[in-house]
Amino acid sequence: MPIELPDGKRLAVCVSFDLDAWSIMLRMRAVGLLGKGNYGPINFSRGEFGIVTGIPRIAALLDKYNIKATFFTPGVIADTYPDMVRDLSRRGHEIAHHGYFHECPASLDEKAERESFQKGVDSIKRVTGKSPVGYRVPFEIPQANELSEHSVKIMMDLGFKYISQHMGPYDFRVSKVRDGDVYHTDKPPEFGKEVSMLNIPVNELIEDDLAYFLGVSTFYPKLDNPSKVLEIWKMDFDYAYQFEPNGFFALVLHPESTGRAHRIVLLEQTIQYIMQKPDIWFCTMEQLADRWKD
Ligand SMILES: [Zn+2]
Repeated sequence: MPIELPDGKRLAVCVSFDLDAWSIMLRMRAVGLLGKGNYGPINFSRGEFGIVTGIPRIAALLDKYNIKATFFTPGVIADTYPDMVRDLSRRGHEIAHHGYFHECPASLDEKAERESFQKGVDSIKRVTGKSPVGYRVPFEIPQANELSEHSVKIMMDLGFKYISQHMGPYDFRVSKVRDGDVYHTDKPPEFGKEVSMLNIPVNELIEDDLAYFLGVSTFYPKLDNPSKVLEIWKMDFDYAYQFEPNGFFALVLHPESTGRAHRIVLLEQTIQYIMQKPDIWFCTMEQLADRWKD
């Protein structure tokens, strides 16, 4: 069994956040992926809300239940709000890499990609005193969230332990990252080699942005019923708990979405539901990766 949980624990639970704030919108505009509409203080404030109001609410909630989370943080967010990011780190949360300006690796050449990774590492290290060891790929339409052919090598050179972005091959299990796959459209794929870095997959179906934000328009959030979202999260958690012992269950959240009042209540209800089980191990993704045994 590749992941060895602490004695007496059945399932790991990781609460993770992407601190995109305004960086995702500005990045997509910079590369021509958003329309030419006005972007000023009003739209900027959508992201600013996540940092100024969402993060304090989230940090207080996590403290209340003594949960250490993982915050995937673009370097520019660490540079803009160093006190906030330092405070999260001092509370015991993991600060992980999420690009410098929310750039997708697949949209960069090798030199720019290496610079982007290094710049993000430098910003986080300057603020927290610790280099990030985990990475989540920033989302850029239409490149979507995709690695380049150089990404894994660059991350290994920088000492990363894990990527949390793949949608498979498992949902509640960690596996080794495979590098060098070649995909064809007229014959079977050629599989690359496993490397000493871990794939902690995400499940887009339980992401807060899918429930609250995506699928309507770029700017106007949709409003889903919290009880419906809670029902989906509970069913996925229950399945993982029952059928995937020694696995993990992860939430992918965003302060600008989950920081809103009724969604914070929903997150607390989810935590309380999970905590009814006596053998759950809440951990950061780095702590999960450190339990890997070859
Ligand atoms: Zn993001």
